[in-house]
Amino acid sequence: MLEARAAVNKMRSYRPPLADRVGLRLDFNESTVGCSPRVLACLRSLDAELLARYPEREPAEKIAAGFLGLEPAQVLLTNGVDEAIHLLCSTYLDAGDEALIVVPTFAMYAIFAEAEGARVIEARASDNFVFPLNALLSQLSPRTRLIAVANPNNPTGAAVAGDVLVQIAQAAPQAAVLVDEAYFEFHGETLIEQTRQVENLFVARTFSKAYGLAGLRIGILAGDSRQMTMVRRVASPYSVNAAALAALPVALEDQEHVGRYVAQVVSNREKLQREFASLGLHYWPSHANFVLVRVGPAHAEFVRALRDRGVLVRDRNSDPECEGCVRLTVGTDEHTATLIGALREVVERLDLQTEAMRTDVRGEVRS
Ligand code: PMP
Repeated sequence: MLEARAAVNKMRSYRPPLADRVGLRLDFNESTVGCSPRVLACLRSLDAELLARYPEREPAEKIAAGFLGLEPAQVLLTNGVDEAIHLLCSTYLDAGDEALIVVPTFAMYAIFAEAEGARVIEARASDNFVFPLNALLSQLSPRTRLIAVANPNNPTGAAVAGDVLVQIAQAAPQAAVLVDEAYFEFHGETLIEQTRQVENLFVARTFSKAYGLAGLRIGILAGDSRQMTMVRRVASPYSVNAAALAALPVALEDQEHVGRYVAQVVSNREKLQREFASLGLHYWPSHANFVLVRVGPAHAEFVRALRDRGVLVRDRNSDPECEGCVRLTVGTDEHTATLIGALREVVERLDLQTEAMRTDVRGEVRS
């Protein structure tokens, strides 16, 4: 009988809950307004000739590099950040190598590392999800070949200073260090420039969040040009489709659309955090377009009750250190008003305030 490789046999399957997503989508950190109307017009204008051809990535890559202030040789367009992670794992991880991640974090680092037969080593975030620098440094070994850090992190929203990440890259020159800046636009700090100087540093960006193009699947991986030559060897030349390549320059041009949306999200993030405080729910201050909140044992009921009111949010109870936690994406003023209205009803109905206080293991309730 045909058997999958041992590494794949051991993996658990990862199936995000994408079915029946009817309502206000605050469950996957997508844009709640969608892409620029100019991008939509561009997509509508595509013709059969464009779709008949194999897509040529280089012109759009050049534009993306110019936007980031990098050389084209430093930049690879990818089928979302997911493909960027996959490519780094294929390029640098042999079976038995170690991939170091901070937990909790985005699921795909461990999945793609495990698929290569690598050992995933976890540095647990300390109390309040502070970045575990010492735990991470103490777990470095000669076999550490990949270190992946989402900055800001998902699902916590926590951010770490760029110089700390550079310090890690310098402490582990044998490892590819991926700084995943999927939520960059909501945070504003980047290590893109440092990819010119630090040979083992890679930065990933996506068009899935602030640009409203999660369905188009396009992302960017940037790194040292010699290293990127190696990464390109394992990449399909056609993994980014023609529609995505056509849309990319238009999406980058309409910074006004992105800027307007990001400004609303950042202001509503603060508003939502104030609301959690007044509802007596513990939250972690976020640098991204979502907020993680501890609801307590009623987490599943909380998610269901919000869904009944037309608002979709994501239960993160099963993530390490996230017992009783739910993650809520932040949207526009209107979407935030809808969310807050539903939250108030649900918190009152489930009597969550006292429950969350009783179950707050860290003993701190924000007010
Ligand atoms: N990185 C992080 C930290 C994320 O949260 C996500 C999406 N949830 C991704 C990458 C995936 O991005 P993309 O859609 O570009 O594959």
